[in-house]
Amino acid sequence: MATWTRRQVLAQMGLAAAAVHTLDPHELCCTVAAHAQTADKDLFDLKKVGDGVYAAIAHQRYKTNCNGTVIVTDDGVIVVDSHSKPSASKALYAQLQEISKKPVIKVINTHFHWDHWQGNESYASTNPKVEIIASQNTKENMTKPDAGVGGVPFIEKQIAALPAELEKLKADIQKESDPAKKKNLESNLQQAESFLQELKSMKPAPPTRGIATTTTLKEGGREIQLHVLGRAHTNGDLFIYLPKEKVVATGDALIDWMPFMNDGYPEEWITTLTALDKLDFTSIVPGHGDVRPKSHLAFFRGYFVDLIDAVKKAAADKATLAEMQTKVGDQLASKYEAGMSKYPVGRYRDRVGQNVEMIYKKVVQKA
Ligand SMILES: [Zn+2]
Ligand SMILES: [Zn+2]
Repeated sequence: MATWTRRQVLAQMGLAAAAVHTLDPHELCCTVAAHAQTADKDLFDLKKVGDGVYAAIAHQRYKTNCNGTVIVTDDGVIVVDSHSKPSASKALYAQLQEISKKPVIKVINTHFHWDHWQGNESYASTNPKVEIIASQNTKENMTKPDAGVGGVPFIEKQIAALPAELEKLKADIQKESDPAKKKNLESNLQQAESFLQELKSMKPAPPTRGIATTTTLKEGGREIQLHVLGRAHTNGDLFIYLPKEKVVATGDALIDWMPFMNDGYPEEWITTLTALDKLDFTSIVPGHGDVRPKSHLAFFRGYFVDLIDAVKKAAADKATLAEMQTKVGDQLASKYEAGMSKYPVGRYRDRVGQNVEMIYKKVVQKA
């Protein structure tokens, strides 16, 4: 499977290249509109979170890369998540050579979103025997045409959407008079063009193993627990828990940005985080943002509880969606805006309106 071309995989799925539609920009959970940095040498900061365990905290790019987690075992290296493109996972691999020269023997995908697995192929090409593990639902989502913002069919959707995005960037560059902003836009254009080239030559390497229930791996002297705790950010979130090191990698079910809910289950998200809270850990490697202490879980979960409560009340008061977005956004700002706006992307005001809409549709209307 790892050596198949994208079109072979799609043909196998009976989808061919026809399953494309124009993307709403909001469907791209992690697109960065501007101000991406130009230097491309090191894409990650490697931060030690335990003995032989590192968080790979992604630098901001025009096309977002997720964070990774690197776990060194006696038998080889295990990497959690592989970012938005093979060149990013290759960059992490180059960086982790300073930590270990052992081969990458396993890749674990936390969920099916494009920015967490599209780099799998670089590990599959350096080690054809690499095992790529995900939850069973994530493994299935990888080949569904309509699972959401990820999976093999979503590669075609990104390719179809990019030419318009490139034209928009070119037009914005023409209009921009500020030299610094122009330079940023030019960098974005260059990054978007190379992203398109990478997508076109992608040989997707979807998971080779799906796990339906919580599973423990005994890997070269380490215990790695893979927890299936319920639906949250997607229907297939996997939590990677190291009980000895007291570290958990959460994917986007727990991030240091505002949550992206389009493929999510907001009410179940709360119960899933409550189940996660029962594990004994001190450090969180979130899907996006920086390493966080366990206390971040209560803050992030609290946002869901308060948001659902506020949207339900506003709906009972017969507010329109637009009224709700303004009112609820302002109402929760004192508690959440600062903590949810620590980075140039994924900030409170960027996403609260979209979150209110998702709660209204998924919880109030039960669409
Ligand atoms: Zn993500
Ligand atoms: Zn995601």
